[in-house]
Amino acid sequence: MSKRQTILLVDDETRHLKVLVKAFLNDYRVLFARSGDEALQLVQQEAPDLIILDVMMPGMDGYQLFGLLQQDQALRQVPVIFLTGRDGEADERRGLEMGAVDYWTKPVSIDIARIRARNHLELKRHRDLLAKLAITDSLCDIANRRGFEDYLAREWHRAARTGRPVSLLMIDIDYFKAFNDHYGHPAGDQCLRQVAALIDKTLSRPADLAARYGGEEFVCVLPETPEAGARVLAQKLRQAVADSGMVHGHSPLGNRLTISLGAATLQPDEAGDPAELVELADQALYDAKNGGRDRVVVAGMVLTTLAKAESG
Ligand code: GH3
Ligand code: MG
Ligand code: MG
Repeated sequence: MSKRQTILLVDDETRHLKVLVKAFLNDYRVLFARSGDEALQLVQQEAPDLIILDVMMPGMDGYQLFGLLQQDQALRQVPVIFLTGRDGEADERRGLEMGAVDYWTKPVSIDIARIRARNHLELKRHRDLLAKLAITDSLCDIANRRGFEDYLAREWHRAARTGRPVSLLMIDIDYFKAFNDHYGHPAGDQCLRQVAALIDKTLSRPADLAARYGGEEFVCVLPETPEAGARVLAQKLRQAVADSGMVHGHSPLGNRLTISLGAATLQPDEAGDPAELVELADQALYDAKNGGRDRVVVAGMVLTTLAKAESG
């Protein structure tokens, strides 16, 4: 079952609010606010799926609140319906031109309001689904390359503001071509899914993101993580794959599947480019491959050589 959608009702008059709350309470999560300021606070905690917004309120009016919502990257995506006592065509025109999805004149018919809201929420659900698919890898069901790049760019800018480091891990399955050649593509796909799930499970912080970079390469974005933390996590991931029991009977490293990892950490600044971090991690991964695979290299230094010790 899909999650209940959330409607935010904003009206300074309690009796109007009551009617609308009653209309939607059975089918949706309903939040309400009695002023623009209150509404602004609510939407910071959680973006609703639909906002029904009274135009005429003391203090900040509906148009002003709408303008503020439009300035926010995430809140701009939330459909807004204006609600007004006036029935002037000019007002309706203004509201729709600003980008509202609908314009209701009070008193609203509860039945019609329900149907209209349902239709807008259906569209919102589809839009959310498409947006999610656009950043999800269909094979591995983790973020795809685009999702990774969007996320890294966002975290890069956040870190530039907060002065915290960002770490990146680049991960590549060892001798995966041989795996495909011997077990077949469907088994290769299954292996990619398992490795993706293992990586995703091993990342512990909510802000960490695992993504499929392409082919048999994965990346992890680790916000607010210094080099030492990235190193520990990279080793943990290497160990998790080594301990997983996944078999690779045609790997020169032994009978098991292994991964190589490159880690890099930077303190972002606004002038810099997140691609620098990718470049550093990629170079470290390259060194890990050249150093014998099944190991972690942190940008600039080789940390561990484990393949021989463990398989020998
Ligand atoms: P190395 O240890 O140097 O990383 O060697 P490798 O064989 O893993 O690397 P190489 O880049 O030569 O081969 C990558 C292979 O990954 C090629 C292809 O068979 C496989 N591959 C890439 N994408 C997919 C995919 O979506 N599904 C499957 N099954 N295999 C894939
Ligand atoms: Mg590989
Ligand atoms: Mg590769």
